[in-house]
Amino acid sequence: MKAVRIHEFGGPEVLKFEDVPEPQLRKDQVLVQVKAVALNHLDLFIRKGLPGVKLPHINGSDVSGDIAQVGEYITDLKVGQRVLLAPMTFCNVCPACTRGEQNFCPQFSVLGYLNDGGNAELIAVPRVNVLPIPDDLTYDEAAAVPLVFLTAWHMLVSRCRVKPTDVVLVLGGGSGVGSAAIQVCKLFNARVIATAGDEAKLEQSRELGADDVINHYQQKISDEVKKITSKGMCDIVFEHVGKATWTESMKSLKPGGCLVTCGATTGPEANFDIRFLFARQLSFLGSFMGTMGDFHEVMKHIFSGKLKAVVDKSFPLREARAAHERLEKSEQFGKVILNP
Ligand SMILES: [Zn+2]
Repeated sequence: MKAVRIHEFGGPEVLKFEDVPEPQLRKDQVLVQVKAVALNHLDLFIRKGLPGVKLPHINGSDVSGDIAQVGEYITDLKVGQRVLLAPMTFCNVCPACTRGEQNFCPQFSVLGYLNDGGNAELIAVPRVNVLPIPDDLTYDEAAAVPLVFLTAWHMLVSRCRVKPTDVVLVLGGGSGVGSAAIQVCKLFNARVIATAGDEAKLEQSRELGADDVINHYQQKISDEVKKITSKGMCDIVFEHVGKATWTESMKSLKPGGCLVTCGATTGPEANFDIRFLFARQLSFLGSFMGTMGDFHEVMKHIFSGKLKAVVDKSFPLREARAAHERLEKSEQFGKVILNP
């Protein structure tokens, strides 16, 4: 089969479109013919070099496609069914997994990080990862949703219990996870202030439901939040940008407010005044992907059309390099897709 592999860490030039052996299907697995796979910042980080990645490696965490073959032990799925994949791996037998907290499993990881992912014509996964999709959801849309909506749902709903009276600041409304977060907040009727880096992304954030927008390159975020909320500030700040925005994010919270983060795209280290944390009684929450319960819950809203995939642009798999460059330059609004 054709796949994009990396044999060494480095720039976009290390992505090699080539022939690779087909995955060996276990009796408890499903083989999926990949139709679409979305890019995440993780793909860029893996390409540049992350510990634990065995080379050669196939990236790809967000996968949709058709079932090509089912293992002998699987009785409830058929060849030809259209599906998307839960974007994570876990053991499914440990105490964390069996109590439904898969993201606390000692073996929990993102699909396509420690194992081969979906930048290929075929991928073999455990039955638990496979979810049939409705006919009106395209493969590109299906690949655009799993990781970002799972992450945004876990952060806002499971961790922060977002509610209608909340004011939520969503950093990077144009990113995959940001565009998911805007929609999840609006599903709960919260008020959303979104930030983005250019006029087109600000407008697109509004179209997704953001009530107010801030240009994070031209405006000081906390000053704008102060104006927009008449000094009321935010109940929740949805972070994933990291170093570049951390101080402004923190200053945008009201006393008792909560900052929740799932990433540090611009850098992992931030300084803050500990007195600001305790005197204002803030909460800082870390969040990593989500549980299978979150996954099934948020996908129901996708399938009913209440939450929508945001597809930026799709590329043939052989053009993975151009797709990486687009994400790397932050040119996208929503998800960049590869089609094997
Ligand atoms: Zn486990």
